[in-house]
Amino acid sequence: MMNHLHSITEISSFHAHIYFNPSHDKQKVEALREHIAERFLVQLGAVFDRPVGPHPLPMFLVVFSVPQFATFVPWLMLNRQNLSILVHPNTDNEQADHTHHALWLGTPLTLQQLSRLPTSLKAMGYQPDAVMPNTTPTLTA
Ligand code: ZN
Repeated sequence: MMNHLHSITEISSFHAHIYFNPSHDKQKVEALREHIAERFLVQLGAVFDRPVGPHPLPMFLVVFSVPQFATFVPWLMLNRQNLSILVHPNTDNEQADHTHHALWLGTPLTLQQLSRLPTSLKAMGYQPDAVMPNTTPTLTA
């Protein structure tokens, strides 16, 4: 028997976490971040030089909308520069979003302390992440 099925309407947005090794991928990752900013109306996070939260390597975050998945994820497939990328939906269950609901491009990494992630944001008085775009794209993908 099948478990409870989710509706795609549960997805508020997506995250792409783009990981890098600071000793030799720093320039590559900054160039990739710039190429994204030039092509996609998305929310770009700062480049973290140290691991944060469940993320085992330095990374930067891209928050993008549900309709953008069809163009942004294929573009990342073609242009990820051999970096590992975690793409996950943002639903009410952050723990499932980072595990069962997740998609990896390149080599998957092992996330840390996943039990600390909430299994219901609503229960904590929070909502899943919405996109607040901060790029001004001028090029087509
Ligand atoms: Zn995330």
